[in-house]
Amino acid sequence: MSQTFEGNMVWHEGKMVPYEKAAVPLMSHTLHYGTGAFEGIRAYKTKNGPAIFRAQEHFERLVDSVKAFGGTLNFSPEQMIQGAIEVIRANRFEECYLRPIAYLDDSNRGLKLPPAPKFLISMVAWNWGKYLGDDAQKLGIRVKTSSFRRADVSSSLPAAKITGAYLTSVLARKEANDNGADEGLLLDAHGHVAEGSGENLFAVKNGKLFTPHTMSILPGITRQSVVEMCQSLGLSVEEKNMTRNDLYLADELFFTGTAVEVTPIREVDGRPVGKSAPGPISKKLGELFFSIVEGRNDNFRKWLTLVQG
Ligand code: PMP
Repeated sequence: MSQTFEGNMVWHEGKMVPYEKAAVPLMSHTLHYGTGAFEGIRAYKTKNGPAIFRAQEHFERLVDSVKAFGGTLNFSPEQMIQGAIEVIRANRFEECYLRPIAYLDDSNRGLKLPPAPKFLISMVAWNWGKYLGDDAQKLGIRVKTSSFRRADVSSSLPAAKITGAYLTSVLARKEANDNGADEGLLLDAHGHVAEGSGENLFAVKNGKLFTPHTMSILPGITRQSVVEMCQSLGLSVEEKNMTRNDLYLADELFFTGTAVEVTPIREVDGRPVGKSAPGPISKKLGELFFSIVEGRNDNFRKWLTLVQG
């Protein structure tokens, strides 16, 4: 779906400006060297108006990602949440995807960063719909293990959501799509399963859930939410070193993430997962997830920030 941002209002360093006016300098260090940090956040339509899912956690992670460069932002998580609310209101969204991005200006040429770089921040929002297509959550997706490896702690900072780190993800996604799959799954440097190009992985075997430990992944906020949801359902979740054995022998596999939400996997490397359709635990967690984000579940109300106060 091609989409224009014309007429879209953007939160740009604390001010609301039209998209066209939210300019970033051509010599921004971030454009050249991947020294940015960003978030993906969703707001959902609820009966009390739009609600942002886990806003505090997302903006805290953004502050932490900037910290990975030794940098700072001019705004606190609370101020950025207010910014997100302003963006949703200004654009009259009932639901949307929010993209805050922290970046550097053009005051540094070359790779060298100043000791405590000041990051600028802008926030755009749009209606994104289903990230992997309208049928992805209903039917499950096809996944391919990537020949590109997820950069681990020895060469990157996986817990930070840094723009430059997404080169590997883009290559994995392209490789998967070029080979007829919907999404790529990356192994880490040791051959253990890490995560999808933009999402975390869970496997179900004999009624128990498994997910890769946090060493080589972005520890997703949806992943953490799903772990807590499993606890509420009495389902056991274990973090472990996972290999392709675990993928190929799993009863169910699914991805979690802000963009994909909970998306079942029906095929991995050409092998059917379960009955080649979403399994019962993936379905149950998907249903619980949507009841929470759409404000239909009182037990997890604390995860929602209502836009209309
Ligand atoms: N891993 C990667 C590489 C991602 O880009 C994302 C999306 N932010 C995730 C996992 C899932 O994270 P979250 O649930 O916080 O969106």
